[in-house]
Amino acid sequence: EGAIAIEHLDFGYLPGRQVLHGLDLRIAAGSFHGIVGHTGSGKSTLLSLLLRFYPAPAGSIRIDGTPVDAIGEDHFREAVGLVPQEPFLLAASARENIAMGRAMTDEQVHEAARAAHAHDFIMGLEHGYDTPLGEGGARLSVGQKQLIAIARALAGKPRILFLDEATSHIDSETEQVVQRALSGLRGQVTIVAIAHRLSTIREADRIVVLNHGRIAERGTHGELMAIEGGLYQRLYLLQQL
Ligand code: ATP
Ligand code: MG
Repeated sequence: EGAIAIEHLDFGYLPGRQVLHGLDLRIAAGSFHGIVGHTGSGKSTLLSLLLRFYPAPAGSIRIDGTPVDAIGEDHFREAVGLVPQEPFLLAASARENIAMGRAMTDEQVHEAARAAHAHDFIMGLEHGYDTPLGEGGARLSVGQKQLIAIARALAGKPRILFLDEATSHIDSETEQVVQRALSGLRGQVTIVAIAHRLSTIREADRIVVLNHGRIAERGTHGELMAIEGGLYQRLYLLQQL
């Protein structure tokens, strides 16, 4: 469960200004997909449509065979988890930040944290799961905040996890932590990750390269690197500088 099928997806915010042009994309249940591309290529727009932020566009988006706009609000919220670009933390304990008002036992909270690779660093905080986070709480790195946000999303047992990678001040230690967490979730949940640092999605089952609202290339990291003068290869080399 958690398969996504996108067919002939066209979308524009303004009449006569198309942003996505006839996208076709199949994402198998439990697979790990990365979405990359220059700024303005349509990555966040595609994510917004998958999350139903805008009315149904031309074409179709289905989750497990059902058009997304035909899925009831409660079902949709259960099916889908989101790790936003700037995860926010409540001024509350690590436990409360993961449970987010859901009735969960400590063991369930720990399980979500372990799956997100957040358990070890939380145990290392002064008061473990009771350590206050957020305003005035423990100071976490961007990567640690993202791991809390991944644990929070996983606590809802979603079939699909969407992730918009933080761009600001992302250091390689942060990025490696998020990368390991995502790779470790393969097979348990479908992951669609927008990545600014290509190394985050290097291990993805498939990487989709967007260019001006079209899919320019798709394949594994190795396949895309083998395209001489390809867009992915150029993006990758730029990041090595
Ligand atoms: P980035 O890497 O900078 O986050 P992106 O790939 O996420 O870029 P989008 O934000 O999807 O790109 O933008 C795709 C195009 O749609 C751009 O030309 C952008 O200017 C336009 N656009 C995005 N949001 C809106 C909006 N709310 N109203 C009008 N145009 C928009
Ligand atoms: Mg974006």
